[in-house]
Amino acid sequence: MDHTTITWADLARLKKAAKAAKSTLPGLSHAQRLDTLASANHRVRNYHEMLKRYEAGIDACLVKDGVLHTCMLCGLQFDSSEPDDWKQHAQRHELYEEAGFYLGYLPSQYAERERIKKLGYKLMQAEGEHQHRDGALAVLLAHFDRSLDAAILDNRWRQHAYFEEYVQCALADAPFIPSGVKRLLVQEFGERAGVIPKGQSYWPPDLVRQTADRAASLKRLQALRSMATA
Ligand SMILES: [Zn+2]
Repeated sequence: MDHTTITWADLARLKKAAKAAKSTLPGLSHAQRLDTLASANHRVRNYHEMLKRYEAGIDACLVKDGVLHTCMLCGLQFDSSEPDDWKQHAQRHELYEEAGFYLGYLPSQYAERERIKKLGYKLMQAEGEHQHRDGALAVLLAHFDRSLDAAILDNRWRQHAYFEEYVQCALADAPFIPSGVKRLLVQEFGERAGVIPKGQSYWPPDLVRQTADRAASLKRLQALRSMATA
């Protein structure tokens, strides 16, 4: 990301600073404070230019095929000839950027999740305990990503479990994992029954995660993602 890119986090910080600067920039309207701080901190003439730069960053995420646009960040596919679709995309994209900023991670989108799941099942049928373990974790990663994706869309990602806790709870009911591999994973992650309802793989909407193992989970997710793309 080059220095001219304006992120969601930059905008959020600027809006907060403009609110807080009532006393340090007296006599200015909120809009004027936005302009002043934007030009002081982001090498732009004013807030409007900062917004334009932010929008250029969003545009760079879009793969365009005629009127059909697909966002590589938030996964939305939309009709660019429909103003309402643009609006829907802007809202969804912002949710993803906010979640990605705080979580340090964004879930893979549908096609990629299906690919990872397929790979996982293939590995579970291959030779060797190590392969089985990686395969089971790949399928769990695809389930986790689908669950987190839904939580971001509902703006409840702050409650969603990190990967380690998710696996712990998912292992309580994971009939797709052969029993020998499951035993190994339970030794590694632990097991918590009764959190994710039987037969489901989504983190329950109203449940707040219990553990704050973000760093450990991130490390694990990065390792799994690179295993799945190798
Ligand atoms: Zn997007």
